[in-house]
Amino acid sequence: MKVLTINSGSSSLKVALFDMKSEKRLSFLEVEKIGERVSRMIFQKETVFEGEVKSHFEAIEIVEDFLSKRDILKNFNHLFAVGHRVVHGGEKFKKSVLVDRDVMREIERLSSLAPLHNPANLKGIEAVLKKSSKVPQVAVFDTSFHQTLPKEAFLYAIDYNLYEKEGIRRYGFHGTSHSYVAKEAAKIVGKSLKELNLITLHLGNGASAAAIKRGKSIETSMGFTPLEGLVMGSRSGDIDAGAILYLLKKGFDFESLDYLLNKNSGLKGLCGVNDMREIEKRIDKERFREAFDVFCHRIKKYIGAYMAVLGGADVLVFTAGIGENSALVREKVCSGLDVFGIKIDKEKNRNGQIDISKGDSKVKVLVIKTDEEIEIARESVRVVSKIC
Ligand code: AMP
Repeated sequence: MKVLTINSGSSSLKVALFDMKSEKRLSFLEVEKIGERVSRMIFQKETVFEGEVKSHFEAIEIVEDFLSKRDILKNFNHLFAVGHRVVHGGEKFKKSVLVDRDVMREIERLSSLAPLHNPANLKGIEAVLKKSSKVPQVAVFDTSFHQTLPKEAFLYAIDYNLYEKEGIRRYGFHGTSHSYVAKEAAKIVGKSLKELNLITLHLGNGASAAAIKRGKSIETSMGFTPLEGLVMGSRSGDIDAGAILYLLKKGFDFESLDYLLNKNSGLKGLCGVNDMREIEKRIDKERFREAFDVFCHRIKKYIGAYMAVLGGADVLVFTAGIGENSALVREKVCSGLDVFGIKIDKEKNRNGQIDISKGDSKVKVLVIKTDEEIEIARESVRVVSKIC
């Protein structure tokens, strides 16, 4: 039973193929620079195709051709399902769904909430549909895991009409990753998700936290867009809206504010570098130390808030590029959290262990490698099996 997952960007396509009996990843391909003069397809860090790829459909064609020539997959008609990452599901999609024309129209309608992502995700769906109208396609939304947030957590305290008419509320993102690591954490501690309260920290170039009570997300740090919450590589995270009003008055326009908040803030804004590895190398310099401290302080603040919201946690999970690899960030974030029963073992933390909690830590602190692709593949199997 083979399942393909697709993460379709405006000019790129990331494709993973799984054998879902063993959950083995059979291959991973990345097509870059679609629509540009020279596009490339990468397989195991090697360029296996270079040339013009005019559209996402052509990208799908070279992927199919590659998989077929290597005897990995005969053609797309032999797939059990294709699962797509779709960034915004709004309030409509509370779960992953089988794609049909209505679903496609709705994803398109939700493009106003995610103009950079949903149209690109849709291109991937349309390309597969053109290739094979028989293969079932499933849309897995970044937002749906957080559709369980209670109203008190998702409403902004602004004119209620803006929620009703414009859909301005907190949606949350990175849901596939939070959901995946929560399930993995439950397996590791040997309990059912329904018995656990978890705080999951997805710390990559984009970063978010989630409070998960008995399997359901009840709070998360990203909001109406993926800009709210934690400090990120180049996104500001939380900032007083009053500062934006002030800058507007000072002559900043939409473009300059968009650039400031999404591209030139966060770690990059604070010290000029968005890569935590670089920051750690130069940590003895004041600007880098400050950026590191602001990053960790914000996470710590959210852990405290989520402890309160959950009424205590059983498990704290670190995941994604920084969460999985930076012992220094994990150590700094967890320092002084004994009051919540969070104690990490410095040796275990530095030695790359999964369970880095001290023997007497009430909260299990785990480092779990995220895998959004396998989660999308599992969701696809779940959705398609239900209708078969
Ligand atoms: P992601 O968005 O999950 O791919 O995470 C990317 C980020 O992870 C990079 O920008 C780095 O800041 C960070 N990262 C990756 N490896 C390390 C490492 N060994 N130490 C610290 N940070 C890392």
